[in-house]
Amino acid sequence: MAVTLAAVTLTRPTGVGAERVRRLLEPELATFAERHPRTRALYERAGASLLDGVPMNWMVKWAGPFPLFLESAAGAHATCADGHDYVDLCLGDTGAMAGHGPAPVVAAVERQLRRGITTMLPTADAAWVGEELARRFGLPSWQFTLTATDANRFSLRIARAITDRPLVAVHEYCYHGSVDETIAVLDGDPRDPFERRTTVARRGNLGPAIDPAQTTRVVPYNDLDALELALRDGQVAALLIEPALTNVGIVLPEPGYLEGVREITRRHGTILIHDETHTICAGPGGVTGAGGYEPDMLVIGKTIGGGIPVAAYGMTSDVAERTRAAVPWEDADVGGIGGTLAGYALSMAAARAALGEVLTVDAFERMMPLAERWEDGVNEAIGRHGAPWSVTRLGARAEYHFMPEPPHDGADQVAHADAELERLLHLWVMNRGVLMTPFHNMALMSPVTTATDVDRHTEAFDAALEALFD
Ligand code: PMP
Repeated sequence: MAVTLAAVTLTRPTGVGAERVRRLLEPELATFAERHPRTRALYERAGASLLDGVPMNWMVKWAGPFPLFLESAAGAHATCADGHDYVDLCLGDTGAMAGHGPAPVVAAVERQLRRGITTMLPTADAAWVGEELARRFGLPSWQFTLTATDANRFSLRIARAITDRPLVAVHEYCYHGSVDETIAVLDGDPRDPFERRTTVARRGNLGPAIDPAQTTRVVPYNDLDALELALRDGQVAALLIEPALTNVGIVLPEPGYLEGVREITRRHGTILIHDETHTICAGPGGVTGAGGYEPDMLVIGKTIGGGIPVAAYGMTSDVAERTRAAVPWEDADVGGIGGTLAGYALSMAAARAALGEVLTVDAFERMMPLAERWEDGVNEAIGRHGAPWSVTRLGARAEYHFMPEPPHDGADQVAHADAELERLLHLWVMNRGVLMTPFHNMALMSPVTTATDVDRHTEAFDAALEALFD
């Protein structure tokens, strides 16, 4: 089977010369190495037993000459093995959006550890969490997994089973976890008409069982005409989307886009799945709750256990009814949806505490102004140093882009990405006590992040821009 690889250029001009970036990067790499002897020793030791010296491959993407090894993390801060303190704006790429070790979650988990960790039987917490998710997202029926990846995988399986259609559709430059069908992009020039472009495996898609060209239709974000064309032959079971892209850089929906998506999917009988795993930053019910949207299914992972593995997928009563009719329950244990630890007691206890006592309406009211403060600080620095860059914000999450206007779709963002410049900026702020998500330029607030934490980033960012532009 031939899998075509789409060409993605990662390094492009962004208003800063490559030479200057390289010149500034050298001393930052040296500073990091000099200040992290214990981390370096741990990394070298780990190299003997772990592939590339890390327990999970993305960890090599951190900006230093070697990844930071952590001693601990608490609240909105982390401490590395060398004892340096960091304001954590990565927050486990949203897994720790509730802050590290929130007290109610720690207490609930400690209690549950003594009452039975996993039993393959439900607890009262499960019913409470189902009710709370129904209240927040407006969908009545829920199931649990340990990861958002699994919740997405199972949602797609259900959608195919109940529609009896073979294909799924996703946005270009989406990320929904390691779900085979979603790791695809459009081939060809983004300026070509959509009809002339084809879906191909994304660069780096490792050993797909089936070429995504056969399972998937990719559509550009914010393009309702393309979506109409992709769905009109009635072959697409599900459209799986983040309501705003957050995994290529934040790309916000244009006015009417999400309403249009709902109308088109409904008209073509395609199950609309909102993956709110990251966009939960928009409010207690994510973008769906904030905008009153009505997807057929919804996925939420990472955050809802306050750091303990748990994810969920919810559905309308219509989808629930059709799922019951399509799933032969006598074969449920081998039917491709499940997980021995899915919905296990410990994760339900953690989710109850995180949703009930940590990620509350009050918490979001504290997080949003902090993200605004971050946005304002970054915008002021951009203006002061004349950088041709812009900032976007989605609730408690914000991001700067190496382009004067925020991106319109994923391809637009990719065309303005610059891996070296990104690395410099991430390392620059890390050397000044701030952790950024290692992919693109995104910062997330937790309920315990403070204005002083935000200002630490703003000062470091301002100094970086001075070095880059003045
Ligand atoms: N959905 C979205 C929108 C995500 O951003 C991610 C992870 N970045 C996932 C799903 C997958 O989450 P996990 O790796 O926890 O399965």
